Amino acid sequence: MNSTIMLAPNGIFPITKMANGEPYPMQPATGFDFAGTIQGEGKLAGIPALFIRTAGCNLRCMWWLPDGSVSRCDTPYASFDTSGAVKSNGYEVFETIRQNIGPIRHIIITGGEPFIQAGNLAPVLHRLREELGLHISVETNGTAFHKPLVEAIDFFSLSPKLSTSVPTKNKQTISNYQLHEDGAKYNRKRINIPAIQQIIDHCNANADKDFQLKFVVKGEEDIAELQTEFLQKLSGWKPSDVVLMPVGGTNKELEQTRMPVVNAAIRHGWRYSPRLHVALFGAKSGV
Ligand code: SF4
Repeated sequence: MNSTIMLAPNGIFPITKMANGEPYPMQPATGFDFAGTIQGEGKLAGIPALFIRTAGCNLRCMWWLPDGSVSRCDTPYASFDTSGAVKSNGYEVFETIRQNIGPIRHIIITGGEPFIQAGNLAPVLHRLREELGLHISVETNGTAFHKPLVEAIDFFSLSPKLSTSVPTKNKQTISNYQLHEDGAKYNRKRINIPAIQQIIDHCNANADKDFQLKFVVKGEEDIAELQTEFLQKLSGWKPSDVVLMPVGGTNKELEQTRMPVVNAAIRHGWRYSPRLHVALFGAKSGV
């Protein structure tokens, strides 16, 4: 419980109290005067929740938009540039959640990529689940499996990345964000079918657990790849577990991708996921 956990800036949100019960020095970014927000995506969209956002990711996603611009990861401060990351530990995370949880029953662990800190996160998530009776979700790119962490989680939002997310030199130039390397390094890391399969198998062996396979896409043009690279190599999933979410971190970007993605979801019998946070609060962090 005292191992270091690296969190994004204001990485437990939205909250009104610190771990010691003192008032939190900032107003919640939701604009409300109480702790909590809603899950904005996927099967659990609309559920009241508190978020824990870890810092650091093993990928650096960038997507082309139809107008020729580039959409970066919607949380670059937790992936591309973690210079503002904050050191915490399991005790502090547990006490902060306990102080702020109120009637909320859901915790969402997101990032960045939470599994890169799996060993340090697992103990506090087990405590939150067992001592406070909370439902724990994780949002992961599906590139790693870690048994103790998986056992602490109730719902897995598995979001494997398609080749369209690779940060090629051209995308880096257009987005004006230069990485130290070209996209090949991230392309090699982005698929781990055995890790995803172990999580699906874990859910199917535990009736109280569930998962979704969430793909960030621009429309029908991305479907063949997600079928051949992921769905056809995985077993134990149902069409209702597959979620298509449009590329875009702002309302302006989403205007270009929303309807083609709705179209593809209906045609294939899969779910469409909005990005409710963007619709409700705009493109800001901490909501
Ligand atoms: S895997 Fe997720 S957090 Fe990491 S860079 Fe891609 S979109 Fe961002």
